[in-house]
Amino acid sequence: MKSFDEVVGFHGHSCPGLALGYRVAGTALREMKREAISEDEELVAIVENNSCAVDAIQVMTGCTFGKGNLIFRDYGKQAYTFLRRPSGEAIRISIDFAAPQETEEEKEMWKRYFQGDRSPEVLKAVHNRKAKKTKAILDASEDELLKVIRVSVPLPSEEKLYQSISCAVCGEKVAEPRARLKDGKTVCIPCFEKE
Ligand SMILES: [Zn+2]
Ligand SMILES: [Zn+2]
Repeated sequence: MKSFDEVVGFHGHSCPGLALGYRVAGTALREMKREAISEDEELVAIVENNSCAVDAIQVMTGCTFGKGNLIFRDYGKQAYTFLRRPSGEAIRISIDFAAPQETEEEKEMWKRYFQGDRSPEVLKAVHNRKAKKTKAILDASEDELLKVIRVSVPLPSEEKLYQSISCAVCGEKVAEPRARLKDGKTVCIPCFEKE
């Protein structure tokens, strides 16, 4: 399993969101027995947000956007479903975590931050607060952090390969289901939306 430092290396910074994703991925790998997945099986992740956490999920589990085994559902929820294809065995992990209480001083610093104050004093306080939260997430027991349930979810279809056609306006290729009709011509979405 990759270390948190390796994940930070990919993501570019350490933050509470990344720590959450790291913990979720660790639990998922264990529960789904990633090591035992054979070549003709696949682990699929369905993520319900596009926060920093998803970078940790990608690096740790190998479920990536480009391979088509990372599916994004834009629900704004800190919930992650992992399933094995083709068996359909699945778990859903949701985050239920109470971050350490903010001190009066921290609250005041956040207020100034959101008002646009970027003084060294405020930036330092915000940075420290984030570091404190990140550490709390990494140190928390699984029970205080995550809720894991077995679920059954319909299998998302395998990535389809579509024919591509040339946009009549810009000439670039576009996958067929994304093409639009405009004034009787087949065009790509950006050209379709252009006035
Ligand atoms: Zn981040
Ligand atoms: Zn076009």
